[in-house]
Amino acid sequence: MAEIALVDCDSFFVSCEQLVNPSLLNKPVCVTSNNNGCVVARSKEAKSLGIKMGMPVFMAKKEFPQAIYLSGNMSLYGDVSDRVMATLKEYSPLIEIYSIDEAFVDLTGLRKLYRKSYIEIAKEIRSGVKEKVGVPVSIGVSSTKVLAKLASEKAKKSDGVYKIGFRDITEELKKTDISEIWGIGKNTTALLNKYGIRTACQFTLIEDTRMTKLLGKRGIELKKELLGESIYKISDKCIPPKSIQKTSSFAKFTSDESYIINSLNYHAHRACRKLRSLNLKTKTVGVMLRTKDFKVYYQKVQLIQPTDFEFDIYENIKLIFTDTFIPDVIYRSSGIIFENLTEQTQLSLFSSTKENKKGGNLATAWDKLEDKYGRGIIFTGIKN
Ligand SMILES: [Mg+2]
Repeated sequence: MAEIALVDCDSFFVSCEQLVNPSLLNKPVCVTSNNNGCVVARSKEAKSLGIKMGMPVFMAKKEFPQAIYLSGNMSLYGDVSDRVMATLKEYSPLIEIYSIDEAFVDLTGLRKLYRKSYIEIAKEIRSGVKEKVGVPVSIGVSSTKVLAKLASEKAKKSDGVYKIGFRDITEELKKTDISEIWGIGKNTTALLNKYGIRTACQFTLIEDTRMTKLLGKRGIELKKELLGESIYKISDKCIPPKSIQKTSSFAKFTSDESYIINSLNYHAHRACRKLRSLNLKTKTVGVMLRTKDFKVYYQKVQLIQPTDFEFDIYENIKLIFTDTFIPDVIYRSSGIIFENLTEQTQLSLFSSTKENKKGGNLATAWDKLEDKYGRGIIFTGIKN
């Protein structure tokens, strides 16, 4: 049987901030998003004050002026995340990075190697990460990913590690609301509740034919996972995304042409960085403009040759923008969408390899500078 641990960093963004500034420890601290000004992470103390996730910062500040509000520093969090993941790799040859602060660790068979029970291995990983990186994690252990995820939620409410053993499954699921199951969102919960299904245990009792009608193949898979049969395997292969989107609202509503095009170029830069970090190139560039009254204008172009380089894309953005932008209309947000992402480098007949190499070197240097000095250290000059 598989033995899977889900390692989840506690209040990750806040923990990173406390790591570089220990005076923030044991204080109500919130990290806020840069683009829409909402609370995206809270320390334990901030949670117990009553500050809610996703709360607009201006509201939180008014209601809870005693808390500390910090705007997010993604490059710091990325750096700490890399160190957490590297530490996890010291414990198991197979880990799957699930998000910036979560990873599945395959513990199968490691009991013999460590001469310890799985729960003891989890405790060792937990103290190892704390010691080497300095951030707290919660760890759930079980025989499937879905159960390990559930165990990690329970770990947060107990002493940081929690195991759902094969024999405990039914008892645990009886105590678990269906909405707590990984992959069951608000809508599915509402649908299941309509049929009287409230606990995860009741969910596992749904017959296969009925389950297929209700939730399709995904329902059957979830049921098996909840019963301890591993369907979702741990994979260290990174699945490339189908598209990359970068959007944000403007600080103020605007109809300023050069301000909007600069915002688009900034989004394109962030999206290009993402492409390069995933070793992908884009074939389609889309530009989105949303007006004050929420009307959306969207247009896209196919590139002759896939690229991950800003300067190739800026030209196209300018073209689409000129075609989409209506003077005197007031806009609230803008966005860039890359689609048709490819891994291979196909050179078109007309492209010059030398030019490509130059662009590649420039982009790499740019990324390195930003990694070192923070986002936005360099801007491109835009000629209108
Ligand atoms: Mg977390």
